[in-house]
Amino acid sequence: MSETSVVTNESATESTTNNEDAIVSYKNITKSFGDVEVLKGIDLDIKPAEKVALIGPSGSGKTTIIRMLMTLEQPTSGEIIVDGKNLWHMEKNGELVPATEKHLREVRGDIGMVFQHFNLFPHMTILENCMTAPIHVQKEDKASAKKRSIEMLEKVGLGDKLDNYPSQLSGGQKQRVAMARALVMRPKVMLFDEVTSALDPELVGEVLEVIRDIAKEGEMAMVLVTHEMEFALDIADRVIFLDNGVIAEQGPPSKVLENPDNERLQQFLHRFR
Ligand code: ADP
Repeated sequence: MSETSVVTNESATESTTNNEDAIVSYKNITKSFGDVEVLKGIDLDIKPAEKVALIGPSGSGKTTIIRMLMTLEQPTSGEIIVDGKNLWHMEKNGELVPATEKHLREVRGDIGMVFQHFNLFPHMTILENCMTAPIHVQKEDKASAKKRSIEMLEKVGLGDKLDNYPSQLSGGQKQRVAMARALVMRPKVMLFDEVTSALDPELVGEVLEVIRDIAKEGEMAMVLVTHEMEFALDIADRVIFLDNGVIAEQGPPSKVLENPDNERLQQFLHRFR
């Protein structure tokens, strides 16, 4: 069972968030697609700066959990609180009502996501890929967005590719652009969804290296869906094993990955030996 916060009857709004420590709280989240319940009551608090690795068999619900934070999926029931703000609901005249697009956009501003398949804009240079959201979403002035985007691309080792288009880059380089593009928005939480699984094996290392560097810098919370167990062991503060829509085991990486209690986790980990 998960060792997370107790869910109360209290509505979770800005004024009633019950875990002040958490940057993200999932409270009794369920999600069904049609008749199939893929998340069956997830309670999960993530602390600011915490690095969480989500592992589990294919279909266990890992991607759905992080897509919800990005507002790409809506929970069937339960609450998600991000930095004290209710993600899917807002308070109006003392009542909780479904969130407006504007409210969703505001809360989403705290979250950055990197996908398995990069999702870069093919018709923009990599510098333009990074600059566009700060300018158009955050209304940052162009000179400042450009300066910060260049700094971020330099940080991921692509300072010499600013004017290249995505099609001119390797998969590993594209994934590093995707990271720079997310980071330039200064998110409080970064989500990584199997970001190395579409890459040729020889390109995996360079992408993991960049994530490791970002993780070391500290302040940002990170949630990584990953099959790279060595990597999880190395950078995560906590590993969560999701099985069939529930948190079946969680704890420090050395415990969960090297001395697990859960039988299905033991079987799952055997595949990586
Ligand atoms: P994981 O990331 O652990 O592989 P997912 O969160 O992607 O798992 O998927 C969990 C389950 O939900 C799977 O059975 C998947 O087929 C199903 N699922 C995910 N997204 C959708 C969708 N948009 N419509 C229908 N079923 C979905």
